[in-house]
Amino acid sequence: MKYFVTGGAGFIGSHLVDRLLNMGAVTVYDNLSSGKKDFIGHHLGRNDFHFIQADLLEFATLREAMRGHDVIFHMAANPDARAGIEDTDLDLKQGTIATYNVLEAMRLNGIKEIVFSSSSTVYGETPVKPISEDYGPLLPISLYGASKLACEGLITAFCHLFNMQAWIFRFANVVGARATHGVILDFINKLENNPGELEILGDGSQEKPYIHVEDCVEGILYGFQHSNGQVNIFNLGTSASTCVSTIARMLLEQMGLADVKLKYTGGKRGWPGDVPQVRFDTLRMEKLGWKPRYTSDEAVHEAIKDILKKDN
Ligand code: NAD
Repeated sequence: MKYFVTGGAGFIGSHLVDRLLNMGAVTVYDNLSSGKKDFIGHHLGRNDFHFIQADLLEFATLREAMRGHDVIFHMAANPDARAGIEDTDLDLKQGTIATYNVLEAMRLNGIKEIVFSSSSTVYGETPVKPISEDYGPLLPISLYGASKLACEGLITAFCHLFNMQAWIFRFANVVGARATHGVILDFINKLENNPGELEILGDGSQEKPYIHVEDCVEGILYGFQHSNGQVNIFNLGTSASTCVSTIARMLLEQMGLADVKLKYTGGKRGWPGDVPQVRFDTLRMEKLGWKPRYTSDEAVHEAIKDILKKDN
């Protein structure tokens, strides 16, 4: 099998590539806007591994690069849900149009299978929790979430019109080694700049499910290999959750820092468009026979360890 991974030099993509290379040949297509060549450096030089540094918005390059592959793992996107507030067409271009390009290049190359990295942000702020995959209407409150939902719509339409098959995974917050963004990295960067004080966005009560990146990749591959509908949609996360104040406390403990002043910016959400309370119904993956190895708290604990280890 030949796998094509967009965003394969990124955080989740590079872990996925590590696993996919046990299953076949892999091409990574990445513009390195947030990913790093270092993350895939250990594979460079292998016969069954190719790295193409290019942008998904260069359609002719993408179409040519994709030729001859069997399955597309589409992991590339702007990863920062906050960035859309300043740059309102960022997710439209890097999410929606980039995904259209991926699908159109697949259609023209006769490639039938796509695995897509969606997000819990497609649900928006729901009155019902935990949220299952059947929940609707889907009303995202960030441009990032809006783009992920638009991508899901493009994927289901391409599947219907051109006889393609899709596996859509709505990730919770993914944490672990090689993280390129997210709350743990934010806190570490802030503490490195000022070890005496930690700014926490919101009132610290925001609470979400966290999944370790190794579990995330395991779940993607399990769901892909064990479901065979035309469009297969899964929440991929943990059933419990962890609040931001707990993450701060765990980090300070693991960094061995005492007497750090916690400065809350206040308010229920971290930033406009942030969904402060997220709870995932993970039954669909469980019924398929898969559960993450780590709980939400354990995933955060392991991720802090992984990221600090790299820093030292
Ligand atoms: P990441 O930024 O580490 O990875 C994204 C990769 O895509 C990077 O390597 C980047 O260089 C590449 N990329 C971006 N735009 C590109 C373009 N136009 N052309 C080519 N390459 C491009 O982020 P991640 O956390 O690994 O996220 C992977 C996917 O999972 C993304 O689609 C993200 O939206 C989704 N997701 C992530 C999380 C999370 O918590 N990390 C949660 C939900 C969904």
